[in-house]
Amino acid sequence: MIMFSSMKGRSVLVTGGSRGIGKGIAAAFAAEGAQVVITGRDRQAGESAASDLAAAGGNAVYIQADVANPADCAQMVATTIERNGGLDVLCCNAGVFPSASLAEMTPGQLDEVLGVNLKGTVFAVQAALDALGRSGRGRVVVTSSITGPVTGYAGWAHYGASKAGQLGFIRSAALELAPAGVTINAVMPGNIITEGLTDLGGEYEQTMAASIPLKRLGSVADIASAVLFFASEQAGYITGQTLIIDGGQTIPESLEAMV
Ligand code: NAP
Repeated sequence: MIMFSSMKGRSVLVTGGSRGIGKGIAAAFAAEGAQVVITGRDRQAGESAASDLAAAGGNAVYIQADVANPADCAQMVATTIERNGGLDVLCCNAGVFPSASLAEMTPGQLDEVLGVNLKGTVFAVQAALDALGRSGRGRVVVTSSITGPVTGYAGWAHYGASKAGQLGFIRSAALELAPAGVTINAVMPGNIITEGLTDLGGEYEQTMAASIPLKRLGSVADIASAVLFFASEQAGYITGQTLIIDGGQTIPESLEAMV
């Protein structure tokens, strides 16, 4: 018996697939034989990521799209359908995490974080509704976070709100998508080594690793494996659910609780 069915030929759209976790998700689907489209705002970074994926033997292209813009979301879905003949899996992964204390956060900073992370997820799902319904095995996998739904972090109140908001969104969306057989679930990464996280500095990485029971930060492949699971045929009866992938980071009551 095969553990998981093949992704061969499936049409997969990964927002924010030009680097970090999104690129890891795209690489995992491409390695399984899916036809992958990645998006992001920076064209040069996106095209270079698509070349990397193709060089590794994957079927992948880049489309420039800003998820905060509903017209861009409609366009990225239309182009994916044109190229791949449909859309089976949507990965809502694009996200930003600029830090701002509550005392200094401007309305513009709040709008940016909610606009990309939360509204961008809603816009992408809205744009993909019909195509996912036509797929017959449509899947949405959202990249949320432990930050917000489970934990807090000074400087990231707006980010935490956006990530918790994504989980509120998927539960109601699951009910609206279910009649068409489409599932929607979310992965909740802990601290994953990506370009975005590296931008926060080496000291951040070392401090975080010490507070994780498995004593390492996660890899993009750790998240991609869980996304592949939610996208598989075998996960077809799971919807509106979440999965924390954090090396046990959210488990200890305190540092004293760890061995
Ligand atoms: P990253 O390395 O900074 O990559 C972010 C990706 O999203 C890039 O491809 C970026 O491309 C794209 N993006 C940003 N804003 C966009 C927009 N408005 N429209 C379309 N694409 C956009 O970040 P990451 O660490 O991989 O994070 C990816 C996701 O995982 C985010 O949702 C983040 O909240 C979540 N997450 C990350 C961690 C972690 O430890 N790294 C932990 C928990 C959750 P452009 O800049 O070219 O648009």
